[in-house]
Amino acid sequence: MENKFAERACLVNSSETREILKVTERPEVISFAGGLPAPELFPVEALKVACNVVLNEEGAASLQYSTTEGYGPLREAICQRMKAIGITSAINNVLITSGSQQAIDLTGRLFINEGDTIICESPTYLAAINAFKSYNANFVEVAMDNDGMIMEELERKLQEHPRAKFIYTIPDFQNPTGRTLTLQRRKRMIELANQYDVLIVEDNPYGAIRFAGEGIPPVKHFDTENRVIYMSTFSKIFTPGMRIGWICADQSFIDKYVAFKQTADLHTDSFAQRITAKYMELYDLEEHIKKIKAVYKARCTKMLKCIKEFFPENLSYSKPEGGLFIWVELPEGVDSKHIFTECLKNNVACVPGVPFFPNGTQKNTLRLNYSNMPEDQIIEGMKRMGDVLHRELIKRQYVCN
Ligand code: PMP
Repeated sequence: MENKFAERACLVNSSETREILKVTERPEVISFAGGLPAPELFPVEALKVACNVVLNEEGAASLQYSTTEGYGPLREAICQRMKAIGITSAINNVLITSGSQQAIDLTGRLFINEGDTIICESPTYLAAINAFKSYNANFVEVAMDNDGMIMEELERKLQEHPRAKFIYTIPDFQNPTGRTLTLQRRKRMIELANQYDVLIVEDNPYGAIRFAGEGIPPVKHFDTENRVIYMSTFSKIFTPGMRIGWICADQSFIDKYVAFKQTADLHTDSFAQRITAKYMELYDLEEHIKKIKAVYKARCTKMLKCIKEFFPENLSYSKPEGGLFIWVELPEGVDSKHIFTECLKNNVACVPGVPFFPNGTQKNTLRLNYSNMPEDQIIEGMKRMGDVLHRELIKRQYVCN
């Protein structure tokens, strides 16, 4: 049979990280590769109760088709949660999506014409790269430092690409770097977006998982011209399996998102939406998030301590104040894919950084996830990884013997 795929089918291949994750699923492997929340923290017992209440009180409605915009009480609860972090919204500004991944994909569909330029952090979230690639976007990467995207660099890129469609940013505990955009830079990003008439897509799944330092309002808080499209999710603060995310934006944008979501899946799972809303009515989600933060703080602290103790000295790494990831930069010239292969021989896994760079540039980086492993496994895994790094860096004479 001749190739029947549309041209866009060649633009995205099965995500490299997914392939990596398959290998790391072997039970003997200590994996820092995924980005999974800790499953032992899922509120299973409370969800049994919420589930029963929903089925008893609104069983038929929860199993029926429902509106594309989403379940009213859930949208209302989301508005309240956003208010607490400085986003003023009405229910009409909120669309419930099937995870924030759908919000990303719909954003690509709504805004990207073939060949359009989008501006993003370098590196950035792999599944957003793939989503935007499928709409044939060109990526312009903006360098980061420990304070997030560098604004002088952003301005230069905006000057070079005056017709850029949007800036895609993950300001809090970014995936993959764990870095956070400072308050000053958030304000500056809005100024630049206004000046150069570009949209901002703020992808913020991790903001609620701050376990150290001072909270910073989302970029959307500083939005003066309704040009920030904010998206978030219950995946990291509740359960990812229920696939509940949302978009908050100007109503004119939301109307278009609704039209496009209708063609994708009609609406997000009604049952999951009602269970999520019922859980928030019956229980204290903030208390639950506190438990998650305490566990992730301990795991992150342990992993950072292990880097200091077991890894060679001539590498740098991020020190996140929340979220799920630490980013490691190896000496120039070290290929992290090779490090990954050697680690796997020793039954420990991480993700090589290359696929997080949309234009595939930097090869000497690694992403480590700490949320999904207990502390004793973190110690053992980091020892193994440290041994591999010492060996490999000595071979390449990056460290003295
Ligand atoms: N954005 C970022 C930056 C992410 O890291 C993730 C999940 N890993 C998502 C969006 C998608 O999350 P979900 O679809 O589960 O809401």
